[in-house]
Amino acid sequence: MRAKPLTDLSQLCVHTITTKPWSIETAAQKFSAAGVKGITVWRDALHGRNIKQTGQLLRDSGLNIVSLCRGGFFPSIDAAKRKTAIDDNRKAIEEAAELGAPMVVLVCGAEANQSLEDSRKQIQDGIEAVLPEAKSAGVKLAIEPLHPMYADTRSAINTLAQANDMAVNINSSYVGVAVDVYHLWWDPTLEQEIKRCGKNNHLFAFHICDWNVPTTDFLNDRGLMGEGCIPVKKMRGWVEETGFNGFYEVEIFSNKFWSQDQSQFLNNIIKDYKENS
Ligand code: ZN
Repeated sequence: MRAKPLTDLSQLCVHTITTKPWSIETAAQKFSAAGVKGITVWRDALHGRNIKQTGQLLRDSGLNIVSLCRGGFFPSIDAAKRKTAIDDNRKAIEEAAELGAPMVVLVCGAEANQSLEDSRKQIQDGIEAVLPEAKSAGVKLAIEPLHPMYADTRSAINTLAQANDMAVNINSSYVGVAVDVYHLWWDPTLEQEIKRCGKNNHLFAFHICDWNVPTTDFLNDRGLMGEGCIPVKKMRGWVEETGFNGFYEVEIFSNKFWSQDQSQFLNNIIKDYKENS
């Protein structure tokens, strides 16, 4: 199935980090004025604010709060650090509930001083430790696999197959996966693993951007959809085939775009969302 053109913005969500120079208050106003319907909030954007009131402000601006980014970073060779991470994830779940966000996205973490298998075990233990709080708060947890270039320190979960396996092992309607095109576009098993997410009803989120060629920074040089080599439309088609009807979340970390006029950048996001996503 080919993805239908995105003629309206009803499924467009933008992450606060995408327009990092804007405060969350400015982002709310600008997103809303531009017709964006969803917002994913990064925790640093909430710094120094009353979280409940900020959630209300976003809803009053006509925005759906899609998720809170991010929890995770569970693995460590140090047991005290693993406990601190679990506590921080409980805090993220509380913050999501206060904000009115239905989900926390997990960048699961990795520890370079141990095997990836050990890190994955600690990730699963960490998620299972906070699952009771997630359930009682009504907040879902989305495991986001990260590109293997981040397997040293950011995530020991690097393919959608690994994320799917973990969600299946944990076996809770509160635990699913976030598919981010930047991290997964290269994977030859992606189409079948996206289908598997759909069958298990645990495809919780879809993040979009592009991979610049050549890329100049492995963290902060993400491109706008259509600028690079990721077949975003094709991947969206696979996601839609599963029955996913949530938001398409534009998540771009870019030193280049952050240094530009953010209003113009938002216009470009909307244009490339319609034309290339
Ligand atoms: Zn993402």
